[in-house]
Amino acid sequence: MTAPARPPIPPGMSRSGDGHLWRPYTQMKTADPPLEAVRTHGSRIVLADGRELVDGIASWWTAVHGYNHPHIAAAMRAQLEAMPHVMFGGLTHAPAETLARRLAGMLPGDLSRVFFTDSGSVAVEVALKMAAQLWLNRGVSGRTRVLAFRGGYHGDTMGAMSVCDPEEGMHRRFGAYLPSQIFCELPRDAETEAALDAALTSRRDTLAAVIVEPLVQGAGGMLTHPPEVLARIARLARRHGLPLILDEIFTGFGRTGTLFACEQAGIVPDILCLSKALTGGTLPLAATVATDEIFSAFWSDDPAAALMHGPTFMANPLACAAANASLDLFEREPRLAQAAAISRRLADGLAPLRGRPGIAQVRVLGAIGAVQFAAAPDLARMKRALVARGVWVRPFGDVLYLTPALTVSEPDLDLLLCEVVRIAHAEAQTA
Ligand SMILES: *Cc1c(COP(=O)(O)O)cnc(C)c1O
Repeated sequence: MTAPARPPIPPGMSRSGDGHLWRPYTQMKTADPPLEAVRTHGSRIVLADGRELVDGIASWWTAVHGYNHPHIAAAMRAQLEAMPHVMFGGLTHAPAETLARRLAGMLPGDLSRVFFTDSGSVAVEVALKMAAQLWLNRGVSGRTRVLAFRGGYHGDTMGAMSVCDPEEGMHRRFGAYLPSQIFCELPRDAETEAALDAALTSRRDTLAAVIVEPLVQGAGGMLTHPPEVLARIARLARRHGLPLILDEIFTGFGRTGTLFACEQAGIVPDILCLSKALTGGTLPLAATVATDEIFSAFWSDDPAAALMHGPTFMANPLACAAANASLDLFEREPRLAQAAAISRRLADGLAPLRGRPGIAQVRVLGAIGAVQFAAAPDLARMKRALVARGVWVRPFGDVLYLTPALTVSEPDLDLLLCEVVRIAHAEAQTA
């Protein structure tokens, strides 16, 4: 067989997009070509043509300390010299041991057993697998389904997709591949609470766990809910004897104003997933953290009771070193105070959009500010216009949002707000 011909560069695509890369979530035939980034600093992305964009979304919510923080860079350099990677099966190393101990110390309750992976989706897969195997290890079979919530997003792999909002495009198209799960509305009032209780009761013998993104459903549209809703879910899960999985992949590490969103509801889940900001936006790393009680179901003389999972690059030392350095920064620098200041600025700055025709809602929670339009706007036009004004964002569906670095400077945050408000006004008028 001959090698396939090198694909031609599609018309309008930049050389940097090159015709070989397959891009994420993009209809490449019609989308604008990607911008070529060459450098980053602070909250800024420098493009190959010399332009500089203020990043309003911290590289998909990861770069909480801004880009190129010298403390993280130094820790990574030191680890790079000593040991960039070593397999984790049968071996251990200080960066992972330290990181696991520190995460256990920071997380509420007895969340204390840390399983490292390399992406958020896989952290969710591991959580689902833990829940399913938990029941098998207890000698109970048939409990494999998960109760999840409408509006949720938990990742792109098959298991994670199966617990994403069932009306979302991806879910609908891949339905035949996905395990079938149970979906409920978030229990925002007595009626939805009763519906959740009823679903948990009627599915009792098939359910393995409940999963939810605490306080804000991120990729589902920056949909916020008050801590009482989360507390209600935790109470019902407990009453029905089901482990609660919190997906804090987006909310973890200060985004909602507390280090972890679950703190605001005063609850401790049985399993918690972390990723996005774990390494301060430098390297891929994720963690699935379980309580002692969950872990104890896997602690056995039976080899088959062990957790059957082990990604090749799990607990990569370089990524763990970056994560440890990121945790140092949470200890040494006032990140939560910065998140609170950003929250106030977002609330003030976005206030002029509230109640405007064409604007359905403005939501601010912690360092997240979201503008929801009454009708889906022209996303490409909006992005282009914002790039022309020096702003990098990634609106989706009917939502334009800001989730800047917690270290964003005042002038950069002002620029983000000023341009987002201007464009949102213009879009709302044309819609
Ligand atoms: C981003 C995200 C995921 C998936 O993480 P990946 O690293 O992209 O696989 C899962 N859950 C939530 C809440 C997320 O925001």
